[in-house]
Amino acid sequence: MDSHNIDNMTLEDAIDFFKDNVDALVLVDGKVNKYKSIIRKGNFNKLLKPTGEYNELIEKLWYHLSKSSDNVPEKYKVFIPTSGHFSGKYARRVSVKIEEILCVIQVSIYPLNGDEKYLFVLDELDDRQSVDESLTTEKVKSFQNTYLFSMYIDLVKDTVNSISVTELSDDIINQELKFSQWRLMIVNAINTDYQAQFMEWTEPEYLKNNFAPGKTASFDCLMMNLEGKEIWVKLIFSRVQTTIPDDYRFVYMVQDINETTLDLIETMNKYEDLASKDPLTQIYNHGRMETEIKNAINKFVEEQIPVSLMIMDIDFFKHVNDNYGHAVGDLTLKRFANIVTDYFDDNNGVVGRWGGEEFVAVCCGADRERALEMAEEIRQKVSFETFANVGNITCSVGVTTVIDGDDFEKAYRRMDNALYEAKSSGRNCVRIS
Ligand code: GH3
Ligand code: MG
Ligand code: MG
Repeated sequence: MDSHNIDNMTLEDAIDFFKDNVDALVLVDGKVNKYKSIIRKGNFNKLLKPTGEYNELIEKLWYHLSKSSDNVPEKYKVFIPTSGHFSGKYARRVSVKIEEILCVIQVSIYPLNGDEKYLFVLDELDDRQSVDESLTTEKVKSFQNTYLFSMYIDLVKDTVNSISVTELSDDIINQELKFSQWRLMIVNAINTDYQAQFMEWTEPEYLKNNFAPGKTASFDCLMMNLEGKEIWVKLIFSRVQTTIPDDYRFVYMVQDINETTLDLIETMNKYEDLASKDPLTQIYNHGRMETEIKNAINKFVEEQIPVSLMIMDIDFFKHVNDNYGHAVGDLTLKRFANIVTDYFDDNNGVVGRWGGEEFVAVCCGADRERALEMAEEIRQKVSFETFANVGNITCSVGVTTVIDGDDFEKAYRRMDNALYEAKSSGRNCVRIS
């Protein structure tokens, strides 16, 4: 090209200049999922093939959204701005990993004939330009980490537009994606437990009726991220401030709250554990066992599964305290708790400390006969065991099986009566009522 006088330059000169300077020129046919490289230089020899699949090209160019060279899963292609049909021109800088080296590439896309055929012009930026790019990337990174993506929703036009942070500054994306279709795609990334709620919240009438201009509301749910991992997110819906009555534009944002939510769940589980466990023996406490009994009775009513209950009371436990001291008494209770827990764990039962030296077990699936067998087994097990300092101890067991018309009080009374009988009959025995 004659660089002295632009007056003499022709289209041919400009085209020659373009050919010499542009790093890659690619023709794309979205309909048949194919691309063809017309120009391929430098790194683009590695990134591009002479011909290839359009999907692959898209994944390579837009993987910066996930910062992973893994392929973007099929259902996330909707998150990639160009995966839908677009009619406008598009230009942005993207980071692409070529053989483990991060390169910054300028992408310009020109639609051809509006027929899902495009012309891609790709240029690798040099180091200085890359530094600028990475500085901007750093700036938005912290925001991006918490806000995974954002969309503009227009209920009247029935459209969505990506406003993902990296695109906020310089891009205009002409993407023809209907909101009504978009919600049906997004819902697939949401954990099934939350899909109904998502569908309710994204129902246009729901949004119109529940969001005054400027109102923001959110709900938390589990959602698949770009790597296909389920994480906790906050879905935020915010109606734009407007005085126009028929203006139903919303901003929709997805915030990553995974770490804080997991911490919260762990803390809650700890508290729940504390609330349901007996501090001395670390097995279920009275409150938890009452719930277990009530749940088991409901199970009996609803599923006709046999349910038996038993109470085990250590015989003459007062003597243990009197003769060996309270500390040994405590150790004995702990050991007793271990023995009954091992037994009921192995025999499909749940056991807890009812109070003092009394322990209660719930056995779902055990009828009268099986419950008697189990009660006898545990009685014998205890009597054969040697307890530190104390030697041998025994226990008495009261058993009952849940019957029609039972509630907690009725079943408990029968079990307690059975224990009373066992004690009256000389202890170290099983009675059923
Ligand atoms: P029985 O055979 O009739 O059941 O006689 P028992 O001595 O086992 O029954 P009683 O109800 O008279 O006494 C229970 C004793 O259990 C009294 C109480 O001091 C003791 N006890 C209750 N809770 C604890 C505890 O947490 N630690 C210790 N060391 N002793 C406890
Ligand atoms: Mg007692
Ligand atoms: Mg006792």
